[in-house]
Amino acid sequence: MTAAFGTALLGALRTLLPRACPGCGAQLGAHAGLCPDCRAALRPHVQHHSPLRARPEPHLVTLGPYSGVRRRAVRELKFAQARDLARILGETLATGVPATWDVQAVIPVPLHPDRQRQRGFNQAELLGRALASALAVPCVPALTRTRATAQQARRQGTQREDLHGAFRAHEGFLPTGPVLLIDDVLTTTSALMHWLRRV
Ligand SMILES: [Zn+2]
Repeated sequence: MTAAFGTALLGALRTLLPRACPGCGAQLGAHAGLCPDCRAALRPHVQHHSPLRARPEPHLVTLGPYSGVRRRAVRELKFAQARDLARILGETLATGVPATWDVQAVIPVPLHPDRQRQRGFNQAELLGRALASALAVPCVPALTRTRATAQQARRQGTQREDLHGAFRAHEGFLPTGPVLLIDDVLTTTSALMHWLRRV
């Protein structure tokens, strides 16, 4: 099958199959992932203030608070492995990454292997691949999680996870130069950065 024919077929299937926009419930029709209105509601922001840095400086790109369209889109990503949606979110994030950051690679925040087996995929990696592709850099799985701490911490209402020994970095995989860590929600990333500063 040629790429053009494949794309045309996919377009036809999208039109024929009734699918609701995960952001608002409207029918998607031929649109992939999100309807145009929800897509327009996603705007990347470079953040100067976050738990990741003690001093204010641009260091983080987000699509905004975990609410509304963003929250519903992330939930859809987690439960439906929505690749079209990951592409839209990743590409939108990429438009907010300043060129001056000179990003050389994207590293997804890993799930615990048991959790990934259960789910079948890592939503941060789906986002990471889309983001990396839009930035024309590699997406490198340079970290693995050795303990499933995040959920436990959330269940117990702990403010900050104890991630000591919860991640392992594969040094041979670590690219040189600036890298972007990507996760679907900032809470885990915040804890991971805390850990990275200590290693
Ligand atoms: Zn929508």
